[in-house]
Amino acid sequence: MYATELKSTGEYYLRKITTDAKPAGPVTREPRNLNELRKILDPATRTPLPIRVQGAGTASTDCNATESGTTLKTTSLDDIVNIDAYNYTVTAQAGVRLETLVTALAEHGLELVGGYDLQGRTVGGAIAAPCFGPGIGSNGGYFASNVIAMKIIRADGQLLKVDSTQENLLGAFRTSFGALGIIFEATMRVRPIRTFTATHRRVSIDKFAGSVDALTKGDVGFKFYLMPYRDRVYLDLRRYDADPGNAYNAPWRIKDWGESTVLPHIFKSLNRVVPIQSVRYKLIDSLSEATQGLVNSRLVRTGSNATSQSNRNKGKSRRQCYYSTWCFPAANFSMIVKAYKEFCESIYADSQYRCDLPAVGFRLCQDSSSLLSPSFDEAMIAVTTASTQPKGWDDFVIDLAEFAEKWGGTPMISQSRALRAEHVIQIYSKRLDFFRRLRRQLDPDARLLSPFLAQFCQ
Ligand SMILES: Cc1cc2nc3c(=O)[nH]c(=O)nc-3n(C[C@H](O)[C@H](O)[C@H](O)COP(=O)(O)OP(=O)(O)OC[C@H]3O[C@@H](n4cnc5c(N)ncnc54)[C@H](O)[C@@H]3O)c2cc1C
Repeated sequence: MYATELKSTGEYYLRKITTDAKPAGPVTREPRNLNELRKILDPATRTPLPIRVQGAGTASTDCNATESGTTLKTTSLDDIVNIDAYNYTVTAQAGVRLETLVTALAEHGLELVGGYDLQGRTVGGAIAAPCFGPGIGSNGGYFASNVIAMKIIRADGQLLKVDSTQENLLGAFRTSFGALGIIFEATMRVRPIRTFTATHRRVSIDKFAGSVDALTKGDVGFKFYLMPYRDRVYLDLRRYDADPGNAYNAPWRIKDWGESTVLPHIFKSLNRVVPIQSVRYKLIDSLSEATQGLVNSRLVRTGSNATSQSNRNKGKSRRQCYYSTWCFPAANFSMIVKAYKEFCESIYADSQYRCDLPAVGFRLCQDSSSLLSPSFDEAMIAVTTASTQPKGWDDFVIDLAEFAEKWGGTPMISQSRALRAEHVIQIYSKRLDFFRRLRRQLDPDARLLSPFLAQFCQ
């Protein structure tokens, strides 16, 4: 049922709650070391419940906040404990920002195994919520897949160590949304910096639909920018070539600045000063296309996971833009991408709402290393729909959720706005049952469970 039909029902308000601005817990705590963290969680301290852990706070849903109780911010737990350049591992506290980690690794000639956008997010947030980017080959998975050991503080303040000898437990703690315990420190696999070539293509949606299957199965890493109202897809294809040349930071920085700062600012202004929608959107789409054509295609030709960072502004763009991400089966994406174009056009015709930023997509390899991996059984394409326009967004994301459900979309508890609890329970099914049982064992008094998370994890 679409948003307009839902309006007369209670469900509209229920689903809108999960799309509105985040509630801030009345109490905020920001521990600076292990002892302070354990003390906050110690039942004797009587910290107001529930305790909801937050990293950079960039998730799109209420998974990282609580209206009552305590928001526990990890951003002061920001030590990089050890970089082991011989065994290719790094150990870092949960509040270290990915950008800081990537820069420190580069000084040792190392990089993360995958490429991850939004460098402002924290190590803890990137492990506990799905974090992915345009990875190449079978390394195109999640940040969490490379975690080999963690120190976790349980809901009762006890320290728990988990490592790769306890595969099932480690898999449950990856992508656990802070519902099983608080990640204090993690050790991840890293590798020597490797340069890739980046090529760009501009194609119609039909042409993209015709090639997406081969791309998904190939050894190429890809990210795409989808402009449904222009019938355009801009493809960013990454490969490890024999002689890729040097990878420089500057072009990627300019690209990032254009995409994540300049364009959203201009679009916000245009939305204020150009009242005629048709003129405004023509301008907006032309600017997006020009950026893709000039900046991305001409400027950025080689890169590495160390240089190709984007969204460096520590999650600030969250306030500038609105996001919702769903994962779709890669095997059906040739049909889904065409249906998405029709969906966007029909919503615009009916409600006059449309997103002003291109949707961004990534391939997610099949990856069962996390119990709640969105691509546990098969490869997926994650599509992030984004806009600078708040008016109409709440209804749009409800419609988008309906569309996604209809096309076999897998929701992410941290990123899919207006998701339905029944749908989450149905999709994650037995894996979620196991997760809930484990959660009840680790936190029998539900000290870490906010009402939002309780919908799926009680
Ligand atoms: C502009 C923008 C672009 C984005 N682009 C991408 C993208 O390209 N790819 C992508 O995958 N995601 C993207 N995201 C989504 C988001 O950045 C990720 O979900 C990210 O991993 C969250 O990290 P965070 O530090 O902000 O965590 P938060 O949002 O603070 O928390 C996320 C979840 O992790 C839990 N958590 C946080 N820290 C801990 C801890 N120490 N222990 C246990 N649990 C913890 C929280 O309780 C919450 O459930 C984007 C978001 C924005 C705003």
